Amino acid sequence: MLNLTLKQLATELAAKRVSSVEVTEFFLKRIKGLGKTLNAFISLDEERSLAAARAADGVIAQGKAQPLTGIPFAHKDIFCAKGWLTTCGSKMLSNFVAPYDAHAIELFNRAGAVIAGKTNMDEFAMGSSNETSYYGPVKNPWDAAAVPGGSSGGSAAAVAARLVPAATGTDTGGSIRQPAALSGVCGLKPTYGVVSRYGMIAFASSLDQAGPFGKTAEDLALMMNVMAGYDARDSTSLQREPENYARDLAKPVRGMRIGLPAEFFAAGMAPDVARAVEQAIAEFKKLGCETVEVSLPNMKLSVPVYYVLAPAEASSNLSRFDGVRYGYRAPEYTDLADMYGKTRAQGFGAEVKRRILIGTYVLSHGYYDAYYIKAQKLRRLIARDFVEAFKKCDVIMGPTAPTTAFRLGEKAGDPVQMYLSDIYTIAVNLAGLPGMSIPAGFGDKNLPVGLQIIGNYFGEAKMLNAAHQYQQATDWHMRMPEGVA
Ligand code: GLN
Repeated sequence: MLNLTLKQLATELAAKRVSSVEVTEFFLKRIKGLGKTLNAFISLDEERSLAAARAADGVIAQGKAQPLTGIPFAHKDIFCAKGWLTTCGSKMLSNFVAPYDAHAIELFNRAGAVIAGKTNMDEFAMGSSNETSYYGPVKNPWDAAAVPGGSSGGSAAAVAARLVPAATGTDTGGSIRQPAALSGVCGLKPTYGVVSRYGMIAFASSLDQAGPFGKTAEDLALMMNVMAGYDARDSTSLQREPENYARDLAKPVRGMRIGLPAEFFAAGMAPDVARAVEQAIAEFKKLGCETVEVSLPNMKLSVPVYYVLAPAEASSNLSRFDGVRYGYRAPEYTDLADMYGKTRAQGFGAEVKRRILIGTYVLSHGYYDAYYIKAQKLRRLIARDFVEAFKKCDVIMGPTAPTTAFRLGEKAGDPVQMYLSDIYTIAVNLAGLPGMSIPAGFGDKNLPVGLQIIGNYFGEAKMLNAAHQYQQATDWHMRMPEGVA
């Protein structure tokens, strides 16, 4: 059961060799055991999960199962799920029970999937190590002294430790791909607009995008088939024909052109990461792919541009947390202004406050043109680099993160060092492109290395094709951390 893919689980369920209740109980037990040690979850609701599992068993008995019916999934605690505590990793929402489902959750429910629990995350998805969570850091299943990456650290750790078959996350600047890499699992950020942001607590709306975590590229494809789709309640949701993201998995990759950006392979990548990434690319060449050098000259500006734009949007999005309508309210105050002030002072953690301060500064009169407008212009240049690069290649490959998982506390006191751990992922969000990370071996400390694959707009099926073919030839993705089995 532990290492079965979604398709294998579905086969077991369809053949009635196991019931959804049994599968759900099996994983809930793991969540309550190892999951607790790792601090991967913020909330569980076993009764609710088991009720959904029983309903799924009914659907399976009627022969009406869809591909994910009866399978338990963990969801990042950024998704509103009706009746579930939905904290976004913050004290500010520590008492918030969502009154409705996010679109993505609605789609999983409709597919007959079971919610196994809500995963730990950096507060309001701001972080790269899961250390900014109000609920404490998550431990990396490969090394309890290391971070799992962030901000979707709980989801990545939950899949790595086989606490659930698969999970969801969100990626604003790398928060699916970077923790997938550091925790040794697969994660995919779709093209902006493919998955609705409705009911997903907003961080930086022009960058936020939800996506799946799983053990294999095929699992990600099956989850994308459920999560993707138009939703009128998100004005940036794209109206497109539904696609089958698994359609190209089995295609041979012979002749596929892999773009290698010179900037990705310049100084900055740790030698053990470079070694694993080079070996992965050699494997793709063995499969018949060609490599071409491409250039992303403005990529070096992506971290500074992001740290103007993302905080600007965050400062606006987070203004709604004022202690009036929902969430935390300071217990003592003198008047309304004092209530706002105390609520926000007590409800937000240090990183969130830092972002709000930066955001309000870059949007303020007199600085708006110098920072915000300038950053918007640079964002366009960064996106244009990719358009040029994709004239010469089908997918782009490189590292997901510059190092393997770092120590808990190692970068917590140095925001700039922390921000730099997203150096390879952020440009993809700024451009709105799809990107994914897959396990590609291990570094010096026996910690996983992720290979990043970037696709052109709506190139998810092609990325998944490349990833699946690599996974047919290698077995990194099936490795489990010691002590998990
Ligand atoms: N680490 C980046 C940040 O802190 C990205 C976070 C994310 O993708 N949600 O903003």
